Amino acid sequence: MSKYVIALDQGTTSSRAIIFDEKGEIVSVGQKPFEQIYPKAGWVEHDPMDYLDTEFSAMERAFLKSGLAPADIAGIGITNQRETTIVWDRETGKPVYNAIVWQCRRTAKLCDALTEKGYGQLVKDKTGLLIDAYFSGTKIAWILDNVPGARRRAEAGELLFGTVETWLIWNLTGGKVHVTDYSNASRTMLFNIHKLDWDEELCALLDIPMGMLPRPVGNSEIYGYVDSRDERLSAFRGVPICGSLGDQQAALLGQGCIEKGQVKNTYGTGCFTLMNAGDAPLAGADKLLNTVAWSIGGQTVFALEGSVFNAGSSIQWLRDELKIIDSAAEVNTLAAEVPDNGGVYLVSAFTGLGAPHWDMYARGLIIGITRGTTRAHIARACIEGICYQVNDLLTAMDEAAGTILDLKVDGGASVSDIMMQFQSDISGIPIDRPAVVETTALGAAFAAGLACGVWEKLSDILALRTSERVFTPQMDPGEARRLTAGWEKAVKRAENWAE
Ligand code: ADP
Repeated sequence: MSKYVIALDQGTTSSRAIIFDEKGEIVSVGQKPFEQIYPKAGWVEHDPMDYLDTEFSAMERAFLKSGLAPADIAGIGITNQRETTIVWDRETGKPVYNAIVWQCRRTAKLCDALTEKGYGQLVKDKTGLLIDAYFSGTKIAWILDNVPGARRRAEAGELLFGTVETWLIWNLTGGKVHVTDYSNASRTMLFNIHKLDWDEELCALLDIPMGMLPRPVGNSEIYGYVDSRDERLSAFRGVPICGSLGDQQAALLGQGCIEKGQVKNTYGTGCFTLMNAGDAPLAGADKLLNTVAWSIGGQTVFALEGSVFNAGSSIQWLRDELKIIDSAAEVNTLAAEVPDNGGVYLVSAFTGLGAPHWDMYARGLIIGITRGTTRAHIARACIEGICYQVNDLLTAMDEAAGTILDLKVDGGASVSDIMMQFQSDISGIPIDRPAVVETTALGAAFAAGLACGVWEKLSDILALRTSERVFTPQMDPGEARRLTAGWEKAVKRAENWAE
């Protein structure tokens, strides 16, 4: 019997394909970056054909490196950058415009107008989201309003919309299957998370013809089979595509957070914190987002989500702009030269502050500088600033949902021991770092493997994840409170700065 699963990880800067064995171990990896397109300040686009080209190459490469036979591959799982929006012609398969990437702010004014008209509560109640340009809904509206003929063609049923997993599945199946999984659908601002279906009222509000929307499906079931003529996919022809989750939800699953109250944080360019919220969206968590985590075997699980806009990017800023370090890793050795922050705080509000502060006008600051402050203190304040922001999210989740017992971590900056120790100290909980940090791809592989018989039940994921290291609180709780109070003062001064 086939025992291997391939996870396609279609991210913001590259496409990857990772083959896992039944122990959850990585057999081989293929990866290919693609071009970022910045037509104007604040606008971000990709060419949707690049997603296919780089993903198919990554799949071929991973397969060739694995030494496996086609029959060894039991199924394909997908995980992807969320919210990114593609509209294409149903007949020709050609996109009518570039993919509008989640980071793109071009619809910010439209979102402000919706908020001013008082639609915030309606959107929150139905979708679990705050009105924001991140989400797909206003991006679809922009394409229909700005690409000549697009609205007429959409109304005539000639155009299809999809987030990135939808686009991949449609193309992998040779244009036969037009679906979106619940976790991705719940990031569109058009999806009713209580009914698990498109919301007519919200589609009408944004003037989006419902005929262009994909069919919402669960996260672990057979959607279709590879049926593409692309030569690079020859080894995969006939293989079922049977799992799909947005990247953050996939990481929550890959971290084994299958019980209510379990939390993961990804320390990347930004941070994404997700808590398993159990079988219903959490009412009252006003500063956080509610979203579908997954629906597997008929059981739907929701998540609370918050994000830090600038985390690892603040380390890059020390390297590329301040030039006080040569590499990201050097921030750790520099910070270790001093025993504490010496009273210095760095608030990396470069583009405002996300949850739970929600202040688009906040800007970064370094405060508490004295004549004795060194670059080591700044490095330390940078690392600690990331931890304080994650702690603010954990505190908001704690208030909304009850006590958090520990935090599972991943992402490029989670390799920093000094950062993980400080997170544990300041948050007063164990920080659990897994041996396989590819939790996003593992989550997608797992969802697919459940649907095609490689694994049997949800709890099998627990055997696939082993801890590499657990950091436990070493700091006196009184000291942690004193330091956090300093952070809160610093944040107040960063808030509401830009005009
Ligand atoms: P993304 O997926 O968001 O692009 P990654 O998960 O690859 O990001 O993480 C990259 C981030 O991790 C960078 O912003 C970088 O500053 C940070 N980083 C990389 N190596 C280290 C390290 N050794 N210590 C601390 N931070 C690091």
